[in-house]
Amino acid sequence: MLPRRPRELPPTAGLPLQAADLRPGAATLASDLARQLGTPPLQLECSGTASLLIALTTLRELQPQRRRVVVPAFTCPLVAIAVQQAGLELQLCDLRLGHFDMDPAALRTVCDERTLAIIPTHLAGRVADVDDAMAAARDVGAYVIEDAAQALGARRDGISVGCTGDIGFFSLAAGKGLSIYEGGLLLARDPGLRQRLADTAARLVPRRFDWECRRCIELLGYAALYRPGGLRLAYGNPLRRGLRRGDPVAAVGDDFALTIPLHRVGRWRQAVGAHAATRLPAFLDQLAAQAQRRLPRLRRIGGVEVYDDSAGTGGTWPFLLLLLPDQKYRDAALEQLWGAGMGVSRLFIHALPDYAYLSAIVPQQDVPHARDFAARSLSISNSPWMTDEDFETICRTLEAVLAPMRASSPHSAG
Ligand SMILES: *Cc1c(COP(=O)(O)O)cnc(C)c1O
Repeated sequence: MLPRRPRELPPTAGLPLQAADLRPGAATLASDLARQLGTPPLQLECSGTASLLIALTTLRELQPQRRRVVVPAFTCPLVAIAVQQAGLELQLCDLRLGHFDMDPAALRTVCDERTLAIIPTHLAGRVADVDDAMAAARDVGAYVIEDAAQALGARRDGISVGCTGDIGFFSLAAGKGLSIYEGGLLLARDPGLRQRLADTAARLVPRRFDWECRRCIELLGYAALYRPGGLRLAYGNPLRRGLRRGDPVAAVGDDFALTIPLHRVGRWRQAVGAHAATRLPAFLDQLAAQAQRRLPRLRRIGGVEVYDDSAGTGGTWPFLLLLLPDQKYRDAALEQLWGAGMGVSRLFIHALPDYAYLSAIVPQQDVPHARDFAARSLSISNSPWMTDEDFETICRTLEAVLAPMRASSPHSAG
């Protein structure tokens, strides 16, 4: 392994909180962000997963005879847990080979009159192919829920992600851009559906002093430790403990509880989020500029494939998502970099059927492209704390790891 970086880098570029953010203020987080992003009104919930659960519960009531929810087979385990908690059936869709989007042909084979919703997912801040999901949904009369948990601020043709499907949601969890430690935002284009989402939440979501109190303390901890001096304690050490135990799922925090808490977000956390949100546009611009500066360097490494914006889209850049030629090279790169405090990690460890702890709620389907994506991908933090020198060290490490490949096939570079 590379020598450990003395000050730990986070795996994603979260917006750091400042002491002044912690002062009381107006609880205007949802309305401020809706104005900033140009979306319909946003409904604040206690997590992205809670937002999805409320969306699914609402749709289930509208179409009670439909029970299936189609999700990409490589996505956050919390999505599978939300489907289960909504009392619905998970239907996996394999990916396009070498891409995080659902494969259009596979999507059509899994959708039918039993399909309630399709969940295209804007992974790593990149904008997903929502149009294809919309077309497949319209063919069978299903809804589309955009999972924009990793893409707050991403746009297509100038319009925020989340606004093309019937429903969209964002995450405000720790490390995901703007954070109130745990939070989510729900939106719907159609005012009637928006009202139904609000009604579902009014019915299902209680005030829970115990949960909100815990989240306030966690938010204070996050504000204190989400900086290079604190991340070793909060992130790096637990990561390395998990890796030493041979438990990568725990190491990256993919081992979620199987019950999703539901409670209202208190005024103080909303005020903290509203204060921090004033810095979000400039922060996202800074990250995009840094990513665009670094992408060409990565592309020059033969064997590295790195995801950029597709035409007409302006994504966000929490981290750079890479594919290496095969699992052997990817694992060799991680061997050097994962525990080194350099912000290199994996996005999700497995395709959904391969998490042992989810075996009771995820169908065992053959999803070779999702498994391939899990085996070959890695992420490089786009945190502003990563210096050009750090980034160059990562690139040189990738070059060294991939050198045997280039030696054996000199024309395959690029
Ligand atoms: C994090 C995440 C979620 C869940 O959001 P939380 O706010 O953590 O509940 C859902 N989908 C994807 C793709 C995510 O990355």
